[in-house]
Amino acid sequence: MSNVRVRFAPSPTGYLHIGGLRTALYDYLYAKQLGGAYILRIEDTDRNRFVDDAMKNLIESLEWAGVVHDEGVFLNEAGEIVQKGEYGPYIQSERLDIYKEHLDRLIQSGHAYPCFCSKERLETVREHQRATNEMMKYDGHCRNLSKEEVEKRMAAGEEYVVRLKMPVNVDITFDDTIRGHVSINSDDVDDQVLMKSDGFPTYHLAAVVDDYLMEITHVVRGEEWLVSTPKHIYLNQCFGWEAPQYVHLPTVLNKEKKKLSKRHGDVAVGDFKKKGYTKEGLINYLALVGWSPEGDQEIFSMDELIAAFDFGRVAKAGGVFDVDKLNWVNAQHIRQLSVSELTDLCAPYLLEAGQISAAELTERRPWLERLISTVQERIEVLSDVVERAALYFTEEVIPETEEVETMLRTEGIPVLIEAMLAELDTIEEIDDEFMKGFFKRIQKATGLKGKNLYMPSRAMITGQLHGPDMAAVFVVMGKAGIQNRLIYVKENFTK
Ligand code: GLU
Repeated sequence: MSNVRVRFAPSPTGYLHIGGLRTALYDYLYAKQLGGAYILRIEDTDRNRFVDDAMKNLIESLEWAGVVHDEGVFLNEAGEIVQKGEYGPYIQSERLDIYKEHLDRLIQSGHAYPCFCSKERLETVREHQRATNEMMKYDGHCRNLSKEEVEKRMAAGEEYVVRLKMPVNVDITFDDTIRGHVSINSDDVDDQVLMKSDGFPTYHLAAVVDDYLMEITHVVRGEEWLVSTPKHIYLNQCFGWEAPQYVHLPTVLNKEKKKLSKRHGDVAVGDFKKKGYTKEGLINYLALVGWSPEGDQEIFSMDELIAAFDFGRVAKAGGVFDVDKLNWVNAQHIRQLSVSELTDLCAPYLLEAGQISAAELTERRPWLERLISTVQERIEVLSDVVERAALYFTEEVIPETEEVETMLRTEGIPVLIEAMLAELDTIEEIDDEFMKGFFKRIQKATGLKGKNLYMPSRAMITGQLHGPDMAAVFVVMGKAGIQNRLIYVKENFTK
């Protein structure tokens, strides 16, 4: 084990955002590559944003994706929240005493101060700053209250928050793994609220304290936190701690180069799962949003990602989330699955569409696998299976286009139908052996060959001009299925 310790620290706001999964994935890849530890910490000190079951949902999404942590918050077999690791608790609302103690230290050392300003006063200050185009920040009204005044107002029960006392005019610098050297003057940094009037710490205090106590070596997070980092660097200085290495990831953008948000479609990992992205496909694609591997390999397994991943090749600019590319990557992973795995993954979609019953799933398993093997090359997401497999679940031949319909009405069709029916009469059931010479024999009987044989045959059986290998389609549909379709065409199109 190396001493590398990284953490994913989501706030349980309801669901896992796809950008959050990417952060978790990079944490995971980095820790695994270096033999370090990856920790899941829950940042739930903002009670306004609290959502029931969100923690469970988060963990389930991470587990589904295979981005599983070594330490922190887990679900046990009964689906209850449990914590594992030497650095717990890993849920911030269970660490309030720790934050309080650290806050007191900051107040004692003069690095933090109580602020009694009312919401109305702060709003007036902000309005003034807006009107005069000044930087929006706390104006320092309570920075220098005397000890007596503070005690008096506290004793009188006045509400207050505690703020970080930023020093005057010093440069705060740090080296971000992706952003490089960052330097900000303390005058441009707000006196951040560290404890709210409800007694809960803000994210800033809690995260800095926890990153230190949990011995986090690398803080990997979205670039929206870059502006807060000088406060975190300074907080570390106030405590006399060495700050972790910061790694700010580019934002995941949509095609319009805006932050990927719920208004523009799916963002929750659960939505992608429901649509039928495989975990392998989604993870592979997400890794590439922001990171570009050396060489031109695009399809990676998790182990290959672990070996190849490099923060040095993560771009500063936002990564565009391109659904077409995701679909392509996902399709490649679907092709790599065994037919049995793919059948398991497709089964819920077939069930939901009513194409197959729960009993048939087991009773007709070999048949179903054969069916799935004919669509494996033709689906990008698992839910595509419903449309692709539809032709097997109806014996009515519905021409896909007018062109197909015209073809079904041509002169040669009745001859073809009779030849096929006669061939089918010679056997009990269609198998691969029978299909080997089938079209040769039909060619002999009808004189049709090449395109003139295959196109109408496919049209008669599937109503389509393109699709899976015909021999496989015949085997899956079976003798009765083919006969019924041929008769259907005969009755509906050839008279
Ligand atoms: N709780 C923060 C969030 O949900 C985490 C930021 C960080 O990783 O420091 O974005």
